[in-house]
Amino acid sequence: MQDLEQGVARFRRDVFPAKTELFTRLATTHRPATLFISCSDARVVPELITQSEPGELFVIRTAGNLVPAYAPGSADGVAAGIEYAVAVLDVSDIVVCGHSGCGAMTAVADGLDPAALPAVAGWLRHADASRARTTAEGGAGTVAALVRQNVLAQLANLATHPSVARALAGETVALHGWIYDIGTGTVEELDATGRPSALAV
Ligand SMILES: [Zn+2]
Repeated sequence: MQDLEQGVARFRRDVFPAKTELFTRLATTHRPATLFISCSDARVVPELITQSEPGELFVIRTAGNLVPAYAPGSADGVAAGIEYAVAVLDVSDIVVCGHSGCGAMTAVADGLDPAALPAVAGWLRHADASRARTTAEGGAGTVAALVRQNVLAQLANLATHPSVARALAGETVALHGWIYDIGTGTVEELDATGRPSALAV
């Protein structure tokens, strides 16, 4: 905890004063252009990877960067965040970013004990389609293949949310699937078939 307090002190002393203008503007303005959905994994830092400033990314982080398909009537924090970002903030792009060595995807590939981790096991059911896709393409059991298919499956889930479906129909939002490799710092973009290509070299 002391590390965090020292970090806040450093932020107040060194970082904030250098960006006073930005923070003054942000105090009354919230207009991010991108909804960025990533894993909760501590090694994945959306603002660092994309070199974004405060105010630029609206971030939703879940275990396994899973986006449950739209379920009418359920009090779903992820769905609420998506709807707010798309219908109120008018984001123009949505990125679903998976990553190498994902613990959630490893658990999906290896299986886990629902009696020991009932909440995790229940949540990971949202990766059922990802596992099915991976098995169908012959990559069952490989975490890298699952990570890739999972990003595609979550993009499909995203499109089931009415706000996203409306924005897609009006061509006011674009969906992107990314994979971040922790060990090399590379980011790949997936095409509609799941084929990766380097995002930037
Ligand atoms: Zn992860």
